[in-house]
Amino acid sequence: MAEPFDTLMAVQEHDTAIDQLRRRRETLEARQALEAVHARRSALATEVAGARVEVEALAARQGELDAQIAAAAARRHEIEARMRSGTVTDARDLQAMDGEVHNLAERQSRLEEEELELLEAQEPLDALVAEADGTDAALAAEALAHEDEVRRADAAIDAELEVLGAERAALAEGLPSELRVRYEALRSRLGGVGAARLVGDHCDGCHLALPSMEVERIRNLPADEFATCDQCGRILVH
Ligand SMILES: [Zn+2]
Repeated sequence: MAEPFDTLMAVQEHDTAIDQLRRRRETLEARQALEAVHARRSALATEVAGARVEVEALAARQGELDAQIAAAAARRHEIEARMRSGTVTDARDLQAMDGEVHNLAERQSRLEEEELELLEAQEPLDALVAEADGTDAALAAEALAHEDEVRRADAAIDAELEVLGAERAALAEGLPSELRVRYEALRSRLGGVGAARLVGDHCDGCHLALPSMEVERIRNLPADEFATCDQCGRILVH
C-alpha cells in the first residue's frame, strides 16, 4: 500500500470514528433518560388536566344532588308538619301523605348514596391533583440532573469531534479529487464505509472472501493502483 491509499485509509478511519461519536452522542443514556422524564412530565400534566376536568364534573353533579336532596327533605318535612298539625283528618289522605313521606325518604337516601359514591370517586382524583406539584417538581429535578449530564457528555464528544474533523479535513485535502469524490459517493451509499482493506482473502468492508485468482491479481497490482471489491463495490486497498 502506498499513497494516496495510506491517506485514504486514514480518512476512512477518521470518518468511522466520527460516525461512532455522533451515534454515541445521539444515543447517550442520559439523553434517553432525559427524554423519558420529559415524557413522564407531559403524561402527568395530561393526567392532572383530565383529573381536574373530572373533579369539576363531579362537583357539578354533587351540586345537583345537594339541591335534589334538600328539595326532597324540605317536601318531606312540610308533609310531616301538616300530618302532625291535625288539620288533615281523613284517613285516606293521611295514608297517601304517609306514602309520599316514605317515597321522599327513599329518594333522599338514594340521592345520598349516589353522593357518597361521587365523593369516593373524587378521592383518588383529589390525591392525584394534590400530589401532582410534588411529583412534577421531583421529575423536574431529575430532568435537570440528566440535562447536566447530557451537557457534559456532549461537550466532551464535541471536543473530540472537532479535533477529528480538523484532522480529517486536512487529510482529505491530500487526496486526488477523483479518488475523494469516489470515496465520498461510496461512503454515503454503503453505510459510511467507502474504502476497505484486503485482509487475507477477505474484503474488510463486506467481510466476504474473494476468489483466490482475484486476490492474486490484486496483490500483484502496482502499489499506487487500487482495486474494487466485486461484491460490495468499495475501494479495496491492498
Ligand atoms: Zn467488499
